[in-house]
Amino acid sequence: MMNLGQMPDKKGNFGEYGGAFLPPQLTEVMNNIAEKYEAIKRSTDFQEELSDLYTHYAGRPSPVFYARRLSRKLGGAQIYFKREDLNHTGAHKINHCLGEALLAKRMGKTKVIAETGAGQHGVALATAAALLGLKCDIYMGEVDMEKEHPNVVRMRILGAGVIPVSGGSKTLKDAVDACFSAYLEDPDTQMYCIGSVVGPHPFPAMVRDFQAIVGEEARRQFREMTGELPDNLIACVGGGSNAIGLFSAFLEDEKVKMYGVEPSGTGFKPGEHAATMTMGTPGMIHGFRSYLIQDGKGEPLPVYSVASGLDYPGVGPQHSYLKDIRRVQYVTAGDREAINAFFEISRVEGIIPALESAHAIAYAMKLAPELSGERSILVNLSGRGDKDIDFVARKYGGDYGVTE
Ligand SMILES: *Cc1c(COP(=O)(O)O)cnc(C)c1O
Repeated sequence: MMNLGQMPDKKGNFGEYGGAFLPPQLTEVMNNIAEKYEAIKRSTDFQEELSDLYTHYAGRPSPVFYARRLSRKLGGAQIYFKREDLNHTGAHKINHCLGEALLAKRMGKTKVIAETGAGQHGVALATAAALLGLKCDIYMGEVDMEKEHPNVVRMRILGAGVIPVSGGSKTLKDAVDACFSAYLEDPDTQMYCIGSVVGPHPFPAMVRDFQAIVGEEARRQFREMTGELPDNLIACVGGGSNAIGLFSAFLEDEKVKMYGVEPSGTGFKPGEHAATMTMGTPGMIHGFRSYLIQDGKGEPLPVYSVASGLDYPGVGPQHSYLKDIRRVQYVTAGDREAINAFFEISRVEGIIPALESAHAIAYAMKLAPELSGERSILVNLSGRGDKDIDFVARKYGGDYGVTE
């Protein structure tokens, strides 16, 4: 197999995807970030500081947990969870936020800015900013602000400004647009800390590198527990950071099958889903090339998922590449399956998952019964569901789920 660890090339290309397509004012800014990141990445000083924060602040390593009751109940492959939900701030996003904020600080920036969907990236970045003494502004669609209200309160308590975005469908894509505009106004004192493996080079590579800790740990932990590597990996894909974080440590292991789960929402008509690689075509969004859900003119179409964090019409360029070379299979789970999985593992394992992560679990619940009991599935449990409980209770309350 090709050396996937060497990707992207110097210009940020993953095959025909990725790159940096920017207004002239931002070209130099991004080049500068790429250069600084290249240098800092190799500095043991930076790596030690980051690794110290991972251990003593974020609570890494996160455990791998054998979901015994769920596996028995489904009667097939053995299911394991990588517990990113146990990190400080409740999701995998703290991994790249600590890295990005540390880089911003070393570059002499005084403020970090970002978009957020479910509010998890906003909370994680506001947390890292507070810790490192940086100012922080978070752009968030009004629809998401309403749905994920506890995270809005959390960001404000942490000292961040939360700026409502009222354009377009008032969700994640519009928040990215608003944040890019704000960055253009002052790229000198601010750094845009993108919330996933998307955006122009170097972000897809940089955010992946910060998330790679998930796969590195999981590989070692799974081996210690079972003496083997997992047969299957499953992760949900919004922009694709938790998925690539888990996958990157296993890309060269041809026997390890990988599944990225995109949200099919309520169906496959435009506006009903955010299944970018299943339904989209190659195009350009937010400064990079990738699969995209777009109209005939290359404009992004509205997307939808019950999980705000998966609600994005693009996807990380490395995923587009991994799809084309068939190293990773991209599949879907809809709202109903995700909600079902949400209640199921709450009741069978005592873990309330984020609605995003529930998509990965939903696919594991479909795959496990098709496999023999000797096979294993490692699911990235990207975050915890505290942020979603009010919404789920209100919308799906009634009988509180489908489990008997
Ligand atoms: C943001 C988020 C996601 C989606 O982002 P990726 O970049 O695709 O990982 C998934 N799970 C949780 C819990 C999130 O907060």
